[in-house]
Amino acid sequence: KQLTADPVQTLSRRQVSGAAFSFVTPRVPSNPRLLHVANDVAEMLGLSAEDRDSDEFRDVFSGGKVMPGTRPYAMCYGGHQFGSWAGQLGDGRAINLAEVEHAGKHWTLQLKGAGETPYSRTADGLAVLRSSVREHLCSEAMHHLGVPTTRSLCLLTTGDQVLRDIMYDGHPEMETGAVICRVAPSFIRFGNFEIFASRHDLKMLRELTDYTIRHYYPEIETGTQSGYGDFFHEVCQRTLRMMVHWQRVGFVHGVMNTDNMSIHGDTIDYGPYGWLEGYDPNWTPNTTDRMHHRYAFGNQPQIALWNLVQLANALYPLVGEASPFESALQQYQHDFNREFTRMQAEKIGLTEVIAGDEELLDQLDAVLQITETDMTIFFRLLGNVKKSEDASSDSEFLATIRDAFYAQQPLGDEVTEQWRDWFSKYLQRLNASDEPDATRRERMNRVNPKYVLRNYMAQTAIDAAEQGDTSLIGELYELLRAPYDEQPEHERWFAKRPEWARHKVGCSM
Ligand code: AMP
Ligand code: MG
Ligand code: MG
Repeated sequence: KQLTADPVQTLSRRQVSGAAFSFVTPRVPSNPRLLHVANDVAEMLGLSAEDRDSDEFRDVFSGGKVMPGTRPYAMCYGGHQFGSWAGQLGDGRAINLAEVEHAGKHWTLQLKGAGETPYSRTADGLAVLRSSVREHLCSEAMHHLGVPTTRSLCLLTTGDQVLRDIMYDGHPEMETGAVICRVAPSFIRFGNFEIFASRHDLKMLRELTDYTIRHYYPEIETGTQSGYGDFFHEVCQRTLRMMVHWQRVGFVHGVMNTDNMSIHGDTIDYGPYGWLEGYDPNWTPNTTDRMHHRYAFGNQPQIALWNLVQLANALYPLVGEASPFESALQQYQHDFNREFTRMQAEKIGLTEVIAGDEELLDQLDAVLQITETDMTIFFRLLGNVKKSEDASSDSEFLATIRDAFYAQQPLGDEVTEQWRDWFSKYLQRLNASDEPDATRRERMNRVNPKYVLRNYMAQTAIDAAEQGDTSLIGELYELLRAPYDEQPEHERWFAKRPEWARHKVGCSM
């Protein structure tokens, strides 16, 4: 490690200055139990089946044993939360264990929920089974959807009880403690740069930026003003790609604070995230954000840009000139609009965007909102449309997409009329190409997933796991490894959210 470490090595909670991280020792769990291993991630790290079954695996990844020759640490960062500067945050419940090199790639292993650190502030440094199942399954689901994300190697329970303040009957609840092991090139966030800039600690800011470029952006020059500009530009572009993917699959992060933005453009920190069910750009899974919709689905690309502006402000002292940052931010807006439209066109089966397509897409966006329509099911069913269908009769088309509507009753005349209008334009557009239906459908099925991790699915797996049955975690993990495939044996998960789950939201704690 070439980054400056915190010389104080106790767990006392404090402001850490002049250092990028603090050494810490994970907490030893009382009775660790391995619930699930993501075999894809284990293989990516070069861990054999025998390794995964060993006591050592359980001990290392529950925090009970520190591997020889390693020094676990927690990172110091700050962040803008809900639009305001929040000061020092840091890894309050995450501990980096080690770095692994396998098959030419470097990975950082990080335990989440393995006890307190100097950055724990007033919290306990722990995680509960509920939030850990959600993060473990969703990280892997996102990866297999093709969305850049941190990964999750394994999920364990610690045998310890954790006090959480979700109140049923007015009393705080004891919950099952759990740990996951996240995997990513690094866990450096926008907030790692912001904390040094906010303290006018130019030395550490430069050290961290040079370190990041040298290790993770080796194609960029370190130590020069143009290199710092190029670095920022590249972070903008990677963030942009992540945003287009989130909007494609209907993922809503819910807490896009700058401390939850990875410098690699990976989705990080699965808290109160959710998946769009009824298509609604104003929807957010974050109940504390329901008033402002800051982190609503439709706002995500703009918020990413806002966060990039904060990163630009943090890096500015290294360059002393605004223009490289301004041009990278402008490029983000320009490229995002193009890539977003292209992605939307692909979702409805168009291979290129021609005159009139943007109107067709805008009209679809509107018609999807007049009646509650499941986003995932709608786009998947849309692939079944046949060019020979008759637009003047609405029955065929509406039968094709019928299952995407939440309403049990027939659609009213007005809604039917709006769909018929959109559909006739869509059919006309499809008929402008000679591509056979089957080919278009196959293309659409590669961008429109059949299976996503709906909140009720994760919740059902959590409820069973709380009762000691972890089989559904394994089943969902397998299902979500192939989200674009037809999996007839799993057809029950290609379904709208059941009514009982309508008002339930995920929880981040
Ligand atoms: P989040 O909103 O989950 O991204 O967390 C914001 C900050 O709170 C980060 O610094 C986290 O490390 C910290 N944090 C969240 N939960 C806990 C916890 N249970 N114990 C200690 N720190 C926590
Ligand atoms: Mg966080
Ligand atoms: Mg979190």
